[in-house]
Amino acid sequence: MTEMKRNPELIAEMIREAQTIAVVSHINPDGDTLGSAAAMRLILTALGKEVTLFCDGEVPDQLTFLPGADLFRFPTENDGPFDLMLAVDVSDVSRLGSAAVLLNRCKHTAQMDHHPTNPLYAEVNSVDGNAPANCIQIRELMDVLGVPVTKDIATCLYTGISTDTGNFAFSSTNAETFRIMSDLMEHGLPLERLNRILFRVKSREQTKLLGKALGSLRFRGNGKIAVITLTKKDFDDCGATGQHADTIVNYGLDTKGTVMALMARESANGQIKFSLRARDPYTVSDIAARFGGGGHTQAAGITMTGPLDECVETVLREMEKKAVSEE
Ligand code: 5GP
Ligand code: MN
Repeated sequence: MTEMKRNPELIAEMIREAQTIAVVSHINPDGDTLGSAAAMRLILTALGKEVTLFCDGEVPDQLTFLPGADLFRFPTENDGPFDLMLAVDVSDVSRLGSAAVLLNRCKHTAQMDHHPTNPLYAEVNSVDGNAPANCIQIRELMDVLGVPVTKDIATCLYTGISTDTGNFAFSSTNAETFRIMSDLMEHGLPLERLNRILFRVKSREQTKLLGKALGSLRFRGNGKIAVITLTKKDFDDCGATGQHADTIVNYGLDTKGTVMALMARESANGQIKFSLRARDPYTVSDIAARFGGGGHTQAAGITMTGPLDECVETVLREMEKKAVSEE
């Protein structure tokens, strides 16, 4: 099955035929992958299924309010067998991290995703590259499965939808997004409380790290590219980890005159993790793909090995070519 589209009926069929189900989120987990998995646990449990949640990464502090956040497990060699593995918001096999072992330890594999770069790696693929968040198609799946929305499920779906749309600001935000939001509100979504947790409250580590990041901000490509770098020392000085760097790249992109932004950080395992962003019509998924990365047209990422400054120059050269050629 190789066509890229939503397939709620096929996913529902796989679910109906399974009893033990492993639901898997992606590495460096975000609100959409964890919201999707947490919602799926509630949905599948309502259907009488036995669900195990897997993620090769810690749940960020900011997302520990999600119902079932404490149930996510790191995959091990001994996990499985399961009747079905369901990956949610996982754009390719590398983003499964160590959970990739489950591909061979489950009778069947399925995935629900919304990344246009997805190579359709599962037996059944429900991938909508135009959906603003994966949680959107989970709401659709619920209707096919006949599972009603609860306040807890609304909480999970809102988390994925609001974070992946930049709080309903990205161009991917569409009428369906608001139809689903209207439905979630009718089911008791605690909007004000969740909005504050997700978009306003920052930990001290986050705020201190933001200071370091803004201190490093510089501009290239005739001022059209904002560059932010964070070293291992910056993280240590702030007592921060990778999760605290999330969304900082936007300060670069939101600076007047900027059309593309790059944030590069030294991660705990020594690799260099890039966050690339662009404003329409500029794109970064193509640049990310050139270096083995991926993601969305205007929000993509790369993981590289090498000294921070060298890696940054390598990626910047490609971005500069683009910024200048499209002047
Ligand atoms: P972020 O910059 O927020 O970490 O990631 C932005 C987007 O790029 C996400 O949708 C994520 O799926 C994708 N992405 C981030 N890092 C990587 C990476 O190392 N490899 C691939 N293939 N995609 C990535
Ligand atoms: Mn997503």
